[in-house]
Amino acid sequence: MEFAHTGLNLAQELDAQDELASFRDEFVISEPNLIYLDGNSLGRLPRRTADLLRRVVEAEWGERLIRSWNEGWIHAPTELGARLAPLIGAQSDEVLVTEATSVNLFKLAVAALQARPGRRKIVSDVFNFPSDLYILQGVIDLLGCRHWLELIPSIDSITISPQSIEAAIDDETALVCLTHVAFKSAFMYDMERVTQLAHEAGALMLWDLSHSVGVVPLELNLCDADLAVGCTYKYLNSGPGAPAFLFVRRDLQAQLLQPIWGWFAASAPFAFELDFDPAPDISRFRVGSIPMLSMRAVEPALEIILQAGVERLRKKSIMQTEYLIYLADEWLLPLGFSLGSPRQVALRGSHISLRHPEGYRITRALIESPPPAVKVIPDFRAPDNIRLGVTPLYTTFTEIHQALDRMRIIVQDNLYEQYSEDWLAVT
Ligand SMILES: *Cc1c(COP(=O)(O)O)cnc(C)c1O
Repeated sequence: MEFAHTGLNLAQELDAQDELASFRDEFVISEPNLIYLDGNSLGRLPRRTADLLRRVVEAEWGERLIRSWNEGWIHAPTELGARLAPLIGAQSDEVLVTEATSVNLFKLAVAALQARPGRRKIVSDVFNFPSDLYILQGVIDLLGCRHWLELIPSIDSITISPQSIEAAIDDETALVCLTHVAFKSAFMYDMERVTQLAHEAGALMLWDLSHSVGVVPLELNLCDADLAVGCTYKYLNSGPGAPAFLFVRRDLQAQLLQPIWGWFAASAPFAFELDFDPAPDISRFRVGSIPMLSMRAVEPALEIILQAGVERLRKKSIMQTEYLIYLADEWLLPLGFSLGSPRQVALRGSHISLRHPEGYRITRALIESPPPAVKVIPDFRAPDNIRLGVTPLYTTFTEIHQALDRMRIIVQDNLYEQYSEDWLAVT
C-alpha cells in the first residue's frame, strides 16, 4: 500500500473516507485527548453495554432475583456461543461462552490428550502466550508426565517458517496447540494449512483465537479445526475478565470429555443425580454457575462487531497497520526503532510491535507525559516491544499519526530519560 506523504492532512482525509468511522460513536470516550492503542489487551466500553448493565443489575438481579435464571440466564453460555459462532466460522451448536481462556484451554487440552492415548507429544511454539504454555505444562504434570511439549522455534523472532512447523508435527503428536495471532509480533498462522498438517499426522488441532477474533475473519469449519478457545475482552470489547469462549467441532463433542465434571456439564443438572452423566452436546464442556453480570456484557459488544462486519474491519485494520508501518519507516526506524511485526499483510494480525532498546521508558513517557502533549496508551512486552494495537472499530488514522509523531519527539528529544526503568505491576 502506498501513502503519498507524512502530513497530518493525509490522515484526516483517510478518516473522512472511512466507511466505519461512525462506529467510534458507539464507545464511551471520556478523554478525547487520549490515544488508546491497547484495544488488543482491553477493548473500550460500548455505550450500549453501560446502559444494559445498569438495567441488568437493577431489574434482572434486583427485581427478578432467582427467577432470572429461568428467564434466560441459564442458557446464556450456549446462546451467546451461537451469537459468536459466525465470527469464527462455526455452527451455532459448536460454541460456548464460559470461564477464562486459560480454563477453557485446560479443559480442551486434557480432553484432546485423553482422546489420543498412544501419543505423547504436544506441539506449540515459542511465540505462544505464557499462560497457554503453563497450562500445557500443568496438564502434562497432572497426567503423570507421560507427555512432552515441543516448541516450534523462530529464526527471526517475528515469524515461524512453514518448514519449522512441518518438522515439529509427526506421528507421535497427540495435539497441536497454537495461538493464531502471536501476542508479541502479531505473526499469523495459515490456519488451514497447519490444521491440515496436524490431521495428516493424526493429531488434534487446538487454536487460541484471543488475538484474532473480532478483527480477522476466521473459518474454523472450512479449515476443519477440531478445537478452539479465545478471549472476549480484547477486540470483542466485552469488559475486564469477561467470560471466554470455546469451540468443539460437532462430531467430536460426544467423543471428548473435559476433566472438570461440574453440575452444568451433566445431562440433567437439576435432576441432582449422584453419579455424573455428561451432557451429549456442547454443554458437557460447561462447569458451574456463570458470572451473569459479566456474561451480559458480551452480547451488546458482539452486536457492534457483527454490524460492522469482520471483513470490513479486517480491510480497515490492514490499511491502518500499513499506514502505521509507513510512518514508522519514515520517522522511527532512523531513530533506532525496528519493526517487530511481519511486513507481509497476510502474515500478521491487527497490532504492530515496534522495538527499541529503551522501549519500556518510551512507553512510560507516552502514557505519563503531562499536557499539552497527547497521551498515548500502547503496551509494552519484554524485552523491547512497544505494542500498538489498532482497533478498527474506534482507532482513527489521525490517532495513529499523532501517536507516531509523539514517539518520534520522545526519542528525538530524549524525553524518556526522565522516566524510571522500574516496572509497574501491569505493563
Ligand atoms: C489474552 C490471552 C489469554 C488470556 O487468558 P485468560 O485466562 O483470559 O486471562 C490467553 N491466551 C492468549 C493467547 C491471549 O492472548
